[in-house]
Amino acid sequence: MLCIDDSKFRDIENQVKKSYPLECCGLLIGANTSEKKVFEVRPTKNWNVERAHDRYVIDSKEFNKIDKETRKKGLQIIGIYHSHPDHPAMPSAYDTEHAWAGYSYMIAAIEKGEKIEVRSWIFNEEKKQFEEEKISVY
Ligand SMILES: [Zn+2]
Repeated sequence: MLCIDDSKFRDIENQVKKSYPLECCGLLIGANTSEKKVFEVRPTKNWNVERAHDRYVIDSKEFNKIDKETRKKGLQIIGIYHSHPDHPAMPSAYDTEHAWAGYSYMIAAIEKGEKIEVRSWIFNEEKKQFEEEKISVY
């Protein structure tokens, strides 16, 4: 289960709305414990300019920089989130091809720039497929 407080959850929803109809993305920062709790939300730039409506790319330099900063604070990157403008909140074939094990993949579907549905997924490396995890907003 991925736990996130209401204000951080709304930050993500606002970013998703503002970016519509393009995809947005970012990182979920949490503690290095068994409980997956989001401490910080870090929006990142979507570097996929050509297909920003249905794909996202996080620059590896930006990822590594945030990873370093996070570790210094005793925290770690626990997940990656991105939006699906006018597509369901399920991982696409592209998402599955580019998935890393060990991270939560939060997907926020946004319909017509208004209605948002957020689901989270974990990549099962053995089965090579995503499995849904529950999100708890508190
Ligand atoms: Zn996707």
